[in-house]
Amino acid sequence: MRRKLAAGNWKMNGTGTALPELEALAHGHPAPSVDILICPPATLLHRAAQTVAGSAISVGGQDCHAEVSGAHTGDISAGMLKDAGASAVILGHSERRESYAESNGTVCAKARAAMRAGLVAVICVGESLAQREAGETLDIIGGQLAGSIPDESTGENLVVAYEPIWAIGTGKVPTLEQIAEVHDFMRGQLERRFGAEVGGSVRLLYGGSVKPGNAAEIFGVPNVDGALVGGASLKAADFSPIIEALE
Ligand code: PEP
Repeated sequence: MRRKLAAGNWKMNGTGTALPELEALAHGHPAPSVDILICPPATLLHRAAQTVAGSAISVGGQDCHAEVSGAHTGDISAGMLKDAGASAVILGHSERRESYAESNGTVCAKARAAMRAGLVAVICVGESLAQREAGETLDIIGGQLAGSIPDESTGENLVVAYEPIWAIGTGKVPTLEQIAEVHDFMRGQLERRFGAEVGGSVRLLYGGSVKPGNAAEIFGVPNVDGALVGGASLKAADFSPIIEALE
């Protein structure tokens, strides 16, 4: 049985004044029946971990370097995230794939580093609008899954998030049939590669304009085990109903 996961990606938003939102979230969900993960900016990670300590909420990073340490100015290793209190890290978000030309190989190396450091790798995949319109969606997703996911993945150290690029921050959401098609495909790919037990235990999140008003119907789609939420994860008042829709 896969435990549901509500994950929030704060992106480059939030200073110390945002921490009360985490407190509100923790107080609002003292014993949730789903996992809750918030990924704040790296500068907030340690304080965020302290803020949610003793609650059911975990915190995570938004990226990490593939190396353990070294001459990589401005970068953060998986071990450093772990040391700051993270239990997971988002990798291969389309904003990073685009802005930093991160390839599937880069994402895979980062995921391997994350897993070795004891973090859950939340690996993002998703097609552009042009790719969807060209009928290439499943080819793109299949290539990203094959190239970005390390061989040592398990249901405990890997989460996959399907995030169509054209749905991120746009208010546009795929149809439930489109989400079902991609999630069924991803499940099949994982089961083929890792076997039914491991492939069937990896959690698959949907991400892209998830809001309180559309969460319940998205969560009703088979093989959707939760959501990766951007904008609507910044305020407890928006994220709480999304968590409740999963419970
Ligand atoms: C995201 O950036 O991962 C995301 C899904 O953003 P939003 O929910 O704002 O579309």
